[in-house]
Amino acid sequence: MKSLYFDGKELLIKEVPIPIQSKDEVLIKVLMAGICKTDLEIVKGYMGFKGILGHEFVGEVVDAQNKSLIGKRVVGEINCPCYRCSFCLRGMSNHCPNRTVLGIYNRDGVFAEYTTLPEKNLHIVPNGVSDEIAVFTEPVAAGYRILEQVQFNSNDFVVVLGDGRMGQIISQIINPYVRKLVCVGKHSQKMFLLNIYGIDTCLLDYWKDKNVDVVIDVTGNPTAQSFALNMLRPQGTLVIKSTTEQSNSINLSKLVVDEIKIVGSRCGPFEPALKALAEKKVEVEYMISHKFAFEDIINAFEVAQNKDCLKVLIDFRNNKG
Ligand SMILES: [Zn+2]
Ligand SMILES: [Zn+2]
Repeated sequence: MKSLYFDGKELLIKEVPIPIQSKDEVLIKVLMAGICKTDLEIVKGYMGFKGILGHEFVGEVVDAQNKSLIGKRVVGEINCPCYRCSFCLRGMSNHCPNRTVLGIYNRDGVFAEYTTLPEKNLHIVPNGVSDEIAVFTEPVAAGYRILEQVQFNSNDFVVVLGDGRMGQIISQIINPYVRKLVCVGKHSQKMFLLNIYGIDTCLLDYWKDKNVDVVIDVTGNPTAQSFALNMLRPQGTLVIKSTTEQSNSINLSKLVVDEIKIVGSRCGPFEPALKALAEKKVEVEYMISHKFAFEDIINAFEVAQNKDCLKVLIDFRNNKG
């Protein structure tokens, strides 16, 4: 099969054998996949990953021990834990030290005709959810993780810092739970799209308020966190979603003096994400700026680097193989 392989230096299209799944794993034919900011960071050196990239996908099960799964359209959670260590036994399997992570850590990803995942990781996609929408399940789930971690109050004033795809998803998820939410970013073109769905936006240069209850940083920019801290009221909460290959420097005494709480936030629950997508509580289709065939995936990566670009999808459905 054809795959997009990262050799630690550059991306190349490489012919590789179709993966052989172990007994609790399922073989999946990839239908559609999304390029994520994390993929762009990996290409810059984040995680030191080598192998087949990609973790956002929807696919069709072609082989599984559980025969009832064959032919089903699925999305998959990306962390593959051991289920035996002390973290797994305490219900923290996303933090299993023995885990592999799809297309990110020690496990080949989904920019290929076929991929494999444990059966436990899969969720069946409801019929009303198109492939284009289902591909967003993983990032929407990452947005729902914030609701598991932060107790929002109906009086809260929240800023989502960053107007990219994750900023837009998170703004839609959190907005119904709080008094006021503003997405703050640098790109009026991108923020205009969010206004259509009833979310307030503001250009970063015009932002003045320093009394925000919760700031959610999704800029992907390591210098943004000190800016985010200055937006917060004393005893406010900073949620950090950005992961970058660069390290960040924030002034920790500001945290002490203002008694700020910092919450790191990563992967989230798939079921509420799929439900929100099916019920259109979170709109995502408008974010698709480009769709490429797999043959053009290197070009797709170039386009995805563009700051005005929200989401680039790779369509495997017309693949001639
Ligand atoms: Zn991602
Ligand atoms: Zn474990």
